[in-house]
Order: sequence, then structure tokens, then C-alpha cells
Amino acid sequence: MDWKADLYRKIPKVDTVMESDAMRTLTGLFGREAVLLALREELGALRALASAAGEEERKAFEKSLSELSGRIETRVRNMFTPAIRRVINGTGTVLHTNLGRAPLPEDIASLLVRTVSGYASIEYDLENGVRGERTARIEKLLSVLTGAESATVVNNNAAAVLLVLRTLAKDGEVIVSRGELVEIGGKFRIPDVIEESGAYIKEVGTTNKTHPEDYSAALTDETKAILKVHTSNYRIHGFTGSVSVPELKKIATERNIPVIEDLGSGVLFDLEKLGLEHEPTVGEAVRSGADVICFSGDKLLGGPQAGIIVGRKELIDKIKKQPLARAVRVDKFTAAALELILTEYLNPAQVPARIPVLRMLGETPGSSKKRAEKLSEMLKGACRGISVEVRETSSRAGGGALPEEEIPGHAVVIKPLVISTAELSRRMLRMPVPVIGRIEEDAVWLDVRTIADDEFGLIAEMFCGVPG
Ligand SMILES: *Cc1c(COP(=O)(O)O)cnc(C)c1O
Repeated sequence: MDWKADLYRKIPKVDTVMESDAMRTLTGLFGREAVLLALREELGALRALASAAGEEERKAFEKSLSELSGRIETRVRNMFTPAIRRVINGTGTVLHTNLGRAPLPEDIASLLVRTVSGYASIEYDLENGVRGERTARIEKLLSVLTGAESATVVNNNAAAVLLVLRTLAKDGEVIVSRGELVEIGGKFRIPDVIEESGAYIKEVGTTNKTHPEDYSAALTDETKAILKVHTSNYRIHGFTGSVSVPELKKIATERNIPVIEDLGSGVLFDLEKLGLEHEPTVGEAVRSGADVICFSGDKLLGGPQAGIIVGRKELIDKIKKQPLARAVRVDKFTAAALELILTEYLNPAQVPARIPVLRMLGETPGSSKKRAEKLSEMLKGACRGISVEVRETSSRAGGGALPEEEIPGHAVVIKPLVISTAELSRRMLRMPVPVIGRIEEDAVWLDVRTIADDEFGLIAEMFCGVPG
């Protein structure tokens, strides 16, 4: 077809486009390389449309060609917009794995920026002016807060489990109940981690019930440890039974092997005080006798991503000396943030107000109602094109913690009058600070539990005009 060649002829030359005023301005702002890259991508897209030779493609070609400068500018601006940005979490899921799990307190975050933007005493002992240990103060805090003899910190809890097993059970057997062979998400599966550590898994019991005798019968000269795993993200009900740590400890003592406990989401605060179901604290786990306990820093603890290992000094010392420990050590951002968060726990009375995760989880329906009404009024005042009402809803802890807890609260429910709900939701993702809500009953729900008061103004401002 002739018009196909015609389309090819219409594709402008790189140099010609680059000399246009629009491209000169863009080059001044972002540099020649980025503009060239974007231009080449756009021209490539035009060539693909021209070669497809259909009527649809021809229309798309003409449209793209007429919008060429604008499309290049969008591409260049996107290149300079980070993919990881601040967002507003209106989902009500407090530990949202896709949204970075635990948010840090604002003042701690600012302090952190000052600490890491220059040099920091990460491995320097300021008292004696000599080389210091990266996590010495963190370890001390962990011992004080959990009652454990010793502690160490790595990159995340998956690394912690791997490192602990590698150190204590490599080339030997680890006994685990079939009821605890869990998958946490993100491809973290206990059987795989055990295998990766170089230890052999010895499964005992059944999915719903495991008895102390199952463990005793499985002990051999090859057994190097008993592992207990917190079934973080699910519960089984009915005819069930598992073996407690004190019972496991009795069995393990016969052979002089350690009991390792993967607590998953280690809590340092009694969640019952927030009106939630009881979740064993790390201190309780230490007192019940596990020799080594590991848990996450960014789940219910409310800190940065980290894997925390506490337990008997003799074993922790071995773990710290394992070569893998160096490969999974924490960086200065994590170490600085974790130290600041743990310091907050020295004053338990102020913890629920200071740690965002716990403050959100503990918010009462009375408070969420008031806050939802406030946001609702602000939106009504700022926007046309939407209907807004406050509705009851229930939020979740997320992050594989408290899987069955439905926490009653309130949401602002937004119905667009002109555009579709799906379109409103898309536009919310393109706001200067993207707002992520839940779509239910053909409306966008913003659960205020996970939205801070100082984000209300921003939301109202960004919404104004968007739906119309
Ligand atoms: C979440 C979890 C992990 C993994 O922790 P990360 O910090 O995400 O690496 C391991 N074990 C259990 C039981 C968990 O709940």
C-alpha cells in the first residue's frame, strides 16, 4: 500500500525534532541524552504503527505525530520521577507490604536524614575515640527490652532465619511440625529456607495436630535443632494442637540442642492494651525458654526493615561470626532508624502515641469517626463532582500479622458523579502524592485509620477539580 510508505515519510528526522523550540527547552531542563532517548522511543513507536498498516494504527499514528512534543516531554518527565515515592495509604491495611509496611515517626525520619546525609558514627566509639561495633547500642537495647542475654541484627527476618539455621543446623536435621511449614509471601517458604541453609528438614506431626511425642520420636544423633514457626498469616480452627516452647525445650534439653523460634512479627508492646487480641511479645517468648528467637523490624514493632535475632549469648556469638552474617548485615539507614525506634520503647507509656503502627492499630471507632467526618467535610468543601459520606468499615493489620483481627473503624466513601469510579481511582494514582484507596460498592473508600491528620488538607487540595 502506498499510504504505508507515506506514513514512513512523515516520521521526522531526529535532528529536525531536536532543533525545535520545545526540544531545546526540554534539553535545557533535563539534558540532551534523556531527550534523545525519549525521542527515539517515540519515533520507534511511530515506526511500529506505520508498519502495522491497519486503519486503527493509521489513526493512532496521526494522533501520536500531532502530539509528538508533548509525548516526548511526558516520557522525559517520567524518567526523572522516581518509581518509589511517598503515597497516601487509604486502604486501612496498617502494615501494607506493597506500601512499605511500617511508616516511621516524622521526627525520627527527619533526624535520620540529618544522620545519614553526612558522616555518621556507625562504627565509631565516640566515648573512647576508637573503632566501635555497628550495632552495639541496638544489641544493648534489645537485651533490655526483651530480657534476652544477647542480640544481633540483620537485613530482614528472612535473612535472620537463614543465618540462624546455617549457623546452628547446617549438615544436620531440623525438626519442624507439618502445621508450621508456612509460606509467608514473596516466595518465602520455610521448607525452602531450611534447605537453603544447608540443614535437612525433618517434618513431624500433621497439618492440624502435632504432639510432644512426635518431636521426641524424631530425635536422632543428626538432629541439630528444633524449629518453631509462628503461623503469622493464617489460623486453623477445630481439632488442632501444637507443642509449646516450654515442652519443646524439655525435649531439646535431652539432646542438648537449641529451640529456635521464628516469631514473624515480633511485638515489644502488649497489644491487649490497644484493645487487640493478645500476641505473644518477644519478652514472653524469651521467658518461655526458646534459645534463639528471630522477628521482623518492620511489622508490629513499627521500625525499619530488619531481621532481629535475640537469645543465648553463646549462640548469638556463633551467629555473629558466621561468614553469611557479613553478607546480610544492616546498612547505616537501618541501623540508625532501628536504634531510634527501639529507644522509644524504653518509655512504654508513650509508645502507643509515638509508634505510628501501634497508634493506627489502637485507634478507637470514636476517634476514627470524628476524623472521617473531618476529612469528609474538607472534601465536600473543596470539591464538586463527587458525593462524600462517612461509613463504618473494618481495617486489618496486614504484613502477615493478626490475620483474623477485623478492627472496626471508619472510611470516607467517595462516589464520582461525572466520571466512573475506576477513572477516579486512576486519577488518584496520578495525583502529586498518589492516593490509594479501596474500591467497594462502586465507590472509592478511604479508610482514615492509615491516613494521618496532616494528610487531610493535602487530599482535599489534590481532589479539588480532579473529578470534574
Ligand atoms: C514475615 C515473616 C518472615 C519474613 O520476615 P521479613 O522481615 O519480611 O523478611 C519470616 N517468618 C515469619 C513467620 C514471618 O511472619
